[in-house]
Amino acid sequence: MNKLSKLEASLALPSSLMPFSPSWTGANEVTIWVKRDDMIHPIMSGNKWRKLAYTLKTTKPNAMVSFGGGFSNHLHALGYASYQLGIPLTAIVRGNYSASPSPMINDLMNWNVDIEYVDRITYQKRNVPDYLLQLQQRYNDALIIPEGGSQQSALHGIGEMVEEITIPFDVIMAPVASGATLAGIINKLSNTQQALGIGVLKGENYLESLVSQFISDKCSAWSIDHRFHLGGYAKVPSELRTFCDEFNTAMSFTIEPVYSGKLFWALKQLLKESYFPKGSNIIVLHTGGLQGAR
Ligand SMILES: *Cc1c(COP(=O)(O)O)cnc(C)c1O
Repeated sequence: MNKLSKLEASLALPSSLMPFSPSWTGANEVTIWVKRDDMIHPIMSGNKWRKLAYTLKTTKPNAMVSFGGGFSNHLHALGYASYQLGIPLTAIVRGNYSASPSPMINDLMNWNVDIEYVDRITYQKRNVPDYLLQLQQRYNDALIIPEGGSQQSALHGIGEMVEEITIPFDVIMAPVASGATLAGIINKLSNTQQALGIGVLKGENYLESLVSQFISDKCSAWSIDHRFHLGGYAKVPSELRTFCDEFNTAMSFTIEPVYSGKLFWALKQLLKESYFPKGSNIIVLHTGGLQGAR
């Protein structure tokens, strides 16, 4: 078996679809399933594997370069994949964690990832063509993968996730940061189905523009609810912390506060508001990301 087949064989795909019936107000009016992409792999986080899958399966780069913060789920998933596939990876990390490495950075070091710490100004150049060309040349004709793994090819893997859902559904909910995950979902919906994104950062209009760049204007019903970022990206007010702790005690699976916590917080509120028509079949995408909460 080659390295790629071996890595693919270690994935739990298709991911399971789990009935979810919390004792929340309004939950008995609808039917909810959680698409457990958090279970795809114990190390590679759900939607980050989905976004990388097509690129890793169809290209054989000499080397790779990508970008992220010190807790990045994307660098974590890519770092593990690069180690398993034997493709050298350079991680351009925003900030300097050399004195006190995060658990994510420690994992990257264990996987022989070359880490380059950069300041904010340099990090801002992560999409500037001249800078990327320099990086590519410096690192052995490397394949450059954008922050979050979010590029057009990422939509293939997200689309496969939607295709795995064989039951009829009306709406699918997912957290939104760079927008590629929601875009990949929207691409695969029929015209009677809806995608509802939950913005995890302050980004009214901005998040919509990120999603739109990946999809055609014809794409059907989708929207992003901006009421649940709870202060901004990775901001965790104490109510959210408590919500996650209580959720994790009561439920059979775990959420973290940056993505899935805000998603389920939003779900609870939307049910209370009777946002979904009675009898709706709702899919909630658990995108994983539990490593980031360490
Ligand atoms: C990156 C990430 C998201 C956001 O996905 P985008 O495609 O960037 O919108 C959601 N959940 C988790 C766990 C993530 O790591």
